[in-house]
Amino acid sequence: SKKVVVIGGVAGGASTAARVRRLDEKAEIIMLEKGPHVSFSNCSLPFHLSGIVENSEKLLMMDPVQFKKKYNIDARVFQEVTHIDKVNKKVTIHNHATGETSDESYDVLVLSPGAKPIVPALPGIDATHVFTVRNVVDIERLQQYVSQDTIENIAVIGGGFIGVEVAENLRLANKNVALIEFAPQVMAPFDDDMVQIIHKEMLDKGIDLRVGDGLASIEDKIVTLQSGKQVKADAVVLAIGVRPDTTLAEDAGLDIGETGAIVVDGNYVTSDPSIYAVGDAIEVFHQILHKKTRLALAGPAQKQARAAADHMYGITNRHRGVIGSSSIQIFDYACATTGINERTAREAGMTVDSVYVISPDKVGLMPNSNPLHFKLIFEVPTGKIVGAQAIGKGNADKRIDVIATLISFGGTVDDLKDLELSYSPMYGTAKDVVNMAALVADNLLAGRFKQVHVSQTRELVESGAYIVDVREEAELKNGMLKGAHNIPLSQLRERMDEIPRDIPVYIHCRSAQRSYNATVALQGAGFTNVKNMAGSFLGTCLYE
Ligand code: FAD
Repeated sequence: SKKVVVIGGVAGGASTAARVRRLDEKAEIIMLEKGPHVSFSNCSLPFHLSGIVENSEKLLMMDPVQFKKKYNIDARVFQEVTHIDKVNKKVTIHNHATGETSDESYDVLVLSPGAKPIVPALPGIDATHVFTVRNVVDIERLQQYVSQDTIENIAVIGGGFIGVEVAENLRLANKNVALIEFAPQVMAPFDDDMVQIIHKEMLDKGIDLRVGDGLASIEDKIVTLQSGKQVKADAVVLAIGVRPDTTLAEDAGLDIGETGAIVVDGNYVTSDPSIYAVGDAIEVFHQILHKKTRLALAGPAQKQARAAADHMYGITNRHRGVIGSSSIQIFDYACATTGINERTAREAGMTVDSVYVISPDKVGLMPNSNPLHFKLIFEVPTGKIVGAQAIGKGNADKRIDVIATLISFGGTVDDLKDLELSYSPMYGTAKDVVNMAALVADNLLAGRFKQVHVSQTRELVESGAYIVDVREEAELKNGMLKGAHNIPLSQLRERMDEIPRDIPVYIHCRSAQRSYNATVALQGAGFTNVKNMAGSFLGTCLYE
């Protein structure tokens, strides 16, 4: 029977061990974890800070005793693997509990050591009030520290998933939270136009958001930024990203790729045929960008784990590659993305266009019907879908999962247009926002209308472009673009003479739906230079 040794006892490691057991009752399975816990919910860690997960023990899903009893897996904590001897197929283990060192042989070795928080070498970074969040010990330590009454101001450095979730949960715990992000925006998977909704929500909920500024130094209770500005911070949480933990792999001479992560094949075999690697430490193939990338997410880690175990037992994995799907709650908003964003697509030299629709997430007569902001990115002229982003108070994740499925199977705008989805007024609209986006994209690809993107609005207003706002008069009290001419859609056909025919005309409304109707009505009446303003008022007012 096989002896399988697994390094790392959380997402990828525990999943591999459990699958091996399901495939082989006789295998000897040893899972080595350097920390005190195995199988905990990394993704739920930030929620302990707000008390959503009140008791940190709840973060632990299985302990070594349960692993032994339920699965006959020998899970050992406080045991760090310090060396891999590929030739003799054995690992060296340092036992942190006893201080002893020992060897363990293997037939198959699995690496799932994860990724480490990046800690930049900056003045003050080693101070005791500076924290990172990776495991249960980290979150307990941080929670205990910030729950002291004297800790009022906290600076979170980094606006990725972990930084944003930590910032939100600390804010929910009534702390004064500053979120500092070096890039011009938080949440890199979102495009600049969509992310403004997130920025606004964070500011509305009292987060002191500082984008375009990085950490320079930490001194006492003051954080100094690269701009020279200072922020009060009784505690600092570093969340500027993670780096694959390749220490062991490098030491063992396994191939490391250009991305800095462990190289594996489609079945997660490393450059040594007896060693597999999965999770945050490996590089994966990007299905859309056709290149190697890193993707530190729990879903892929668990799927890779299963595939690796399968391969040990002759079941090959049809490796499609990753597309990158994720979701996050940011206060009252659900935010989700899949595939690549427009920025990445353009940087990769792809010819793409996008549509931005704002549709109700359920029938307007139903309780809690809210606008859902949805952006669809597709290749031109094929209409092949490469990405989508959704933000709203309703089920943004459901919409993104539809698109993720479509992207995985190479779907196009045309496929999405006709995609038959479930509908009840309580859950959606007869033409769901994802169908709507495809209809708009289809019209665009067929040249039935032209649009300008929401990000161009400011430039148009400032250059004095001729903008027609087709909202009804009663809506204008909500605000209006400077210099826009109001001709409500209900009066458009009688008042077309007011609109010039010899200069470009831009049409605007609340969500770009009525303005689309106005655009095609004007085109039908012989106007040749009319463009719909994507995002319109809802998109723009958030953008401003
Ligand atoms: P891990 O789960 O980190 O496990 C690696 C383990 O290996 C660690 O416990 C480590 O101690 C151990 N180890 C390392 N080296 C050794 C050694 N030499 N010897 C013994 N043991 C070793 N992903 C999502 O998809 N959605 C989310 O909402 C989400 N939220 C997250 C929130 C937080 C705060 C964090 C930290 C991560 C989050 N993730 C999320 C990412 C997700 O948790 C990871 O992608 C996933 O855990 C990766 O699994 P892994 O097995 O590669 O690494």
